[in-house]
Parts: sequence; structure tokens; C-alpha cells
Amino acid sequence: MTGRAPAPFTAADHRARMERAARAAADAGLAGLLVAPGPDLVWLTGYAPTAVTERLTLLVLTADRDPVLVVPALEAPDAARAPGAPALTLRDWTDGKDPYAATAALLDAGGRFGVSDNTWALHLLALQRALPDSTYASLTDVLPMLRAVKDDAELRLLAAAGAAADRVFEEIRTLPFAGRRESDVGADLAELLLRFGHAQVDFTIVGSGPNGADPHHEVGDRVIERGDMVVLDFGGLKDGYGSDTTRTVHVGEPTEEERRVHDIVRAAQEAGCAAVRPGAACQDVDRAARTVIADAGYGEYFIHRTGHGIGVTTHEPPYMIEGEEQPLVPGMCFSVEPGIYLPGRFGVRIEDIVTVTEDGGRRLNNTTRELVTVD
Ligand code: ZN
Ligand code: ZN
Ligand code: ZN
Repeated sequence: MTGRAPAPFTAADHRARMERAARAAADAGLAGLLVAPGPDLVWLTGYAPTAVTERLTLLVLTADRDPVLVVPALEAPDAARAPGAPALTLRDWTDGKDPYAATAALLDAGGRFGVSDNTWALHLLALQRALPDSTYASLTDVLPMLRAVKDDAELRLLAAAGAAADRVFEEIRTLPFAGRRESDVGADLAELLLRFGHAQVDFTIVGSGPNGADPHHEVGDRVIERGDMVVLDFGGLKDGYGSDTTRTVHVGEPTEEERRVHDIVRAAQEAGCAAVRPGAACQDVDRAARTVIADAGYGEYFIHRTGHGIGVTTHEPPYMIEGEEQPLVPGMCFSVEPGIYLPGRFGVRIEDIVTVTEDGGRRLNNTTRELVTVD
């Protein structure tokens, strides 16, 4: 079960995406794109095999011919039901035949190809043997923005996923925290994500007290106490599109310092969102948020990039990070999630998904960003 349930797109939508991808590949000087099962294949064709195995499944996109999906014969009926199947040719192969030779016959020997990042080495190495003069590049390296600009239907699905995540926060803040383990609260978050329509939970981070100062902490056995700050960061896929939001709550009344640190992160998050507009660079969003935290004297405690894209996965380009000069384009969707992490003490992070509109940024998460106290 991949959990990547195909979103409700038509064959025409998928045809348009595959044509756009093939054109972008040609513009980038590539002879074509090779796409194995995973988020790129779902986005292009709507096809998500129930199990990814050692049998080769590969979408071949080239500028000069219709898309071809090389697929094991026993999985061909499943592939034929994919929403994008009418827009491509299925080329099935049976056990005992060489699918790499069949794939190589579709390709320009000596060409350079973009390969989806999650293509197994097993397959790529076999293709290299079949086409020794061809070269290969990571699809994310050569076409990082392929899936970055969302159309209206995708934006509606992302907004719905964000609204569902917001409902999760509204529920969780009413439940008891003190005396329960992080893992118990994490299980509640997962249950709520599913209850509000997610098909897949990607992460439920509950970082209480000193654990909140480790941005990679997921959940542990620590029992949450009164006086703890608790970072809650959760998300997954709903109808094929991602959610990802963070709120930091306090168990009981916070201290003045805790309030001040939270205020700084909130101001940084506000500044990051305010920097979102068409034509601004990704790094401008990072700089806007980071400047607020640095000016408040906490720069060394903001130890990660400000944000990442979201779509059919919960982490993808574009990245809001110093050095990323990619201009923002209406339809891009990404997180704005600055934080301050005080080792051994506590952490604060606030995260919303934001989409670029003609006038600026629009948040897809809208729960309060004030410091919420919980019991
Ligand atoms: Zn406290
Ligand atoms: Zn997150
Ligand atoms: Zn995130």
C-alpha cells in the first residue's frame, strides 16, 4: 500500500502534464525522461502500482513520440485503469523477456536522460548496460520545478488537506497533555489526520520540553509535564495531496521567556509569509524570517531552512533556503516554518503552507498563531 491514492484528474490533465514535462526535458537538452513508480509517476499518469517490485515499470517520455509505459504483463490491467492510461501506450513485458532491451529500443542511444530520483539502482544500472553511450541525470537536479507550480485543482486539494490539518490542531488542543507520553499524543494526531480525511500519515512530531529543541525528534516515551513547551508538527496525504503544519503549545501558563521566544518565531513566520510574492526569490523568504530571529539575538538557534515545497509529496522543491535564487511563481506551494531551538530546554516552531498568488502569499493553514495553552 503506497497510500498515494491518485487524485481525481482526467486523462486530458495527465496528457497535458506529460506534454509539458517532455517539452521541459527537450528545453533542458535532454533526450527524454525515465520515470519509475513514485510521486513523479503519480503526478504524470495517476498510476501508483500497489507494490513496487524488482520487475521494471518505467514511463518513457520523449519529445518525438507518445508516452510509453513499460510495465510487467501481470500489472498491465492495473496500469490500464490509471487515470492517465488513455494518454499513453502500454508496453507490457512477460517474465523471461528483457525489459531493459525493450526500453532501450525506445530511446536515443547516446542521449542524456532525466531519471526520477526514486528509480532503483537495479534498473538504472541495467539500462546503462543496455545503452552504454547514454548518460543520466537526476530529474530533481535537471527539472527541479517540474511539479512546483500547481494548477487550480491541485491548489483546491492542497487547501483541503491544510483545512483538515487545521481541524486536527483544533481537536488536539482540547485533549489533555500533562501526564501523557509524547507517543500517546502522536497516536492521537495520527488518528485525527485519518479521521479528517487523510489516507496516509507522513509524520507526527511531538517534541516536549527539551525534546522540542531537536527539530528531528519525532515522538518518544517522555511523559509531558506541566510547564513544557510542546512542538506539534504533523501531516500526510489527503486525496493525493499533502498537509504539513506546526504549532507550539504550552502546558499551563508560560514563563515570560517562553512567551518572548514564541513571539519572535511568530514575527519571523509573519515576515516570511509577507515576503511571498511573484518574482521574489526563494531565498528572500528565508532571509525575511531569519532576519527577525537574528535581530532578536537568536540567530544561532534557527538551525534549518525556512521551508520546502509540498504537493503529491510532503517535501519537494522549491526550498526556501539561502542561495536558492529560483523566483516565486503564482501556484507554487511551500511551507514557511522558522523555529528557535534552545538545547536542553525547549523549542518553538510555527509552520503554515503558503501558496503564491498574483498579490502575495495566501496561507493554507489558518489556526491561531498565538501561544495556545493546553492542559
Ligand atoms: Zn514552560
Ligand atoms: Zn512540518
Ligand atoms: Zn514542513
